[in-house]
Amino acid sequence: MEDRIVSGDIMNSDDDSSLRPSSLDEYIGQHDLKENLKIFIQAAKQRNEALDHVLLYGPPGLGKTTLSYILANEMGTNIKTASGPTIEKSGDLAAILSQLEPGDVLFIDEIHRLSKVVEEILYPAMEDYCLDIVVGKDSSVRSIRLDLPPFTLVGATTRAGDLSAPLRDRFGIVNQLAYYKQEELEKIVRRTARVMETQIHEDAITEIAMRSRGTPRIANRLFRRVRDFAQVMNDGVISLEIATMALDRLKVDHMGLDDVDHKYLRGIIERFKGGPVGLEAIASSIGEEPTTLEDVYEPYLLQIGFITRTPRGRMVSNKAYEHLKIHHDDGLF
Ligand code: ADP
Repeated sequence: MEDRIVSGDIMNSDDDSSLRPSSLDEYIGQHDLKENLKIFIQAAKQRNEALDHVLLYGPPGLGKTTLSYILANEMGTNIKTASGPTIEKSGDLAAILSQLEPGDVLFIDEIHRLSKVVEEILYPAMEDYCLDIVVGKDSSVRSIRLDLPPFTLVGATTRAGDLSAPLRDRFGIVNQLAYYKQEELEKIVRRTARVMETQIHEDAITEIAMRSRGTPRIANRLFRRVRDFAQVMNDGVISLEIATMALDRLKVDHMGLDDVDHKYLRGIIERFKGGPVGLEAIASSIGEEPTTLEDVYEPYLLQIGFITRTPRGRMVSNKAYEHLKIHHDDGLF
């Protein structure tokens, strides 16, 4: 699939580290999650213990990685990072674990993609802070147990349902990250403009936030592209006019939908009379994998109520017809 400017997945042009807030107070939105984490952090610190293991799940770009850095920062410890698919062998994980210092945060992105053998190393590590390794060969093979310092595993996943039950059960703190509200995205864009020392009008902030699909990473990406237009065409000042023109040229509409979303919605309307229609049928009609539809196309469309999931399949809502300016019974068919 082609790169989409409205994809929550990280792209090469997203140099996000300068934009990452470093404390819970600077982290915008996710209010309830933040308030709870503040308590858990304070309690762990008072007991002089590592914070319990944390599982964060939700669509890409909502701030899972950022939050894990903040947890380490707030605990006053270091963070080591890894990703599920890159930890191939049990030895890879053992090497990472054996380098941890007391209280460190180990962040594992895409934790649902750990292999079974690697996962099994993780169980005793999470539960008892120990590492079982097999040494020797043939008849002299034996297992030895090494102690690990207390540490906090922060796991991130876009697919909580794909996590095995034994792994999920070993996390003491499990949280879903929600899409951000309009005013929270506006705060994020305002903050990004400040960090990047760019002058931006309030109505332009509103416009960028509106088209960001509830996702901070997309808000920052759109901001960068709009800033390019402003720099070349408007002395660097982001006005509403420049923002609207730039976003229209990037083909991101007022609700943050791009051509791919339009293709999906029109596909259901034109070929299946708006639904209900099964996932497989939509997927084959527009030439995509069902999992791509579920993971990439649908979450935001469900969130804004443009499609609904019924027992008989997906349906396009009236709201989406209105947005696409298609009448239910007009001459489309
Ligand atoms: P994820 O790990 O969920 O894919 P990231 O943590 O990498 O998402 O977040 C993407 C970018 O969005 C970050 O670099 C940061 O600039 C921004 N961001 C995410 N969450 C927030 C937030 N709550 N407040 C401010 N900026 C945020």
